[in-house]
Amino acid sequence: MKILVVNAGSSSLKYQLIDMETEGVIAKGNVERIGIAGSVLKAKGNGHEKVYEQDMPDHKVAIELVLHALTDGEIGVIKSMEEIGAVGHRVVASGEYFKKPTLVDGEVLKTLEKTFELGPLHNPAAATGVKACIEVMPHTPMVLVFDTSFHQTMPPKAYMYGIKFEDYKAYSVRKYGAHGTSHKFVSQEAAKYLGKDIKDLKTVTCHLGNGSSISAVDGGVCVDTSMGFTPLDGVLMGTRSGCIDASAVEFLARKKGYDAARMVTYLNKECGVLGISGVSSDFRDLIAGAEAGNERCQLALDMFAYQTKKFIGSYAAAMGGLDCIVFTAGIGENTPTVREGACEGLEFLGVKLDKEANYGKNTGSVREISAKDSKVKVLVIPTNEELVIARETLALV
Ligand code: ADP
Repeated sequence: MKILVVNAGSSSLKYQLIDMETEGVIAKGNVERIGIAGSVLKAKGNGHEKVYEQDMPDHKVAIELVLHALTDGEIGVIKSMEEIGAVGHRVVASGEYFKKPTLVDGEVLKTLEKTFELGPLHNPAAATGVKACIEVMPHTPMVLVFDTSFHQTMPPKAYMYGIKFEDYKAYSVRKYGAHGTSHKFVSQEAAKYLGKDIKDLKTVTCHLGNGSSISAVDGGVCVDTSMGFTPLDGVLMGTRSGCIDASAVEFLARKKGYDAARMVTYLNKECGVLGISGVSSDFRDLIAGAEAGNERCQLALDMFAYQTKKFIGSYAAAMGGLDCIVFTAGIGENTPTVREGACEGLEFLGVKLDKEANYGKNTGSVREISAKDSKVKVLVIPTNEELVIARETLALV
């Protein structure tokens, strides 16, 4: 079966068509500027790339163009859209409404709307993408795959905040986590690489990208994760503050004259390593800055590695042991200084990096960067969230 994976943003739409027999990507692309002047689809298939510059006032028109690209002479990979067995849609937030991947029907679409306030930037866009696909492919099964599903196994002692229990019940304010598909994928890949049964492994997975989250995966099951009610929690990130004392938020809001909504924007968009360095949210710029002697760039890098290390240590404690650390995503896969900083001083836990392997070339496949005599295996694993979405979709249909 061929499965189309769709990741819809408010003005963008990324897709991959995956052949589930081989799990290979047979076509992919992304649409930008939906509803804005200058909308464009960049599509790849059959070893060719084609750019479609045409007006796309809404997601329905964008999906129609994607289907056209998938069947288009030169780059087309299928004869008709009937060949698409199902569509898997990435959804960021599920709240407590959805615990696992879900087949879409009218009721499910209504429930999805209830999650909008939990993922205000992403979930309305995902719903728009689903509706657009239904209009264009009314007979093809649609599946929602949530970033939060993998974290649903956390026990209450891990996902609860120390607020009034009645308020948790009334408003579902708790930790949900994020990047679940990535944490699931790399923890499974780690077990495969190590030739171990995942049930026997205690793994800390570090998804370090523009948004970063760290998870404790015990026996293949998530038992804790660093992101919280929203993806603002945990380590500091590109532009997000990560965890901060709530009283400091109120104090800062008063000093700066910000209301609550402005404060949330400040913490999401103006802080993190960008705010600390004053230079960039991109780690390549931070590394260049630090090498040129910029102390604030160095501080941002140090804070990021240190906070990551603290999560690794606390999750080893939470699981009562540690067999494997995985680094993935843009920074995790490409930034040896961060990996080195995050593992530095963890020898007491049995973590010993092989410096040369850590600074070795990114091969785009699984790499072991721990020393031969390291008790804890340290791996770099390229993530593949689309493949997990396709697998979950296949499993449901
Ligand atoms: P997201 O998917 O959350 O947007 P990514 O996983 O693509 O983020 O990670 C993006 C970040 O990864 C960039 O901001 C950059 O800091 C870092 N990054 C990507 N490639 C490299 C590289 N070659 N060297 C260092 N950092 C990199």
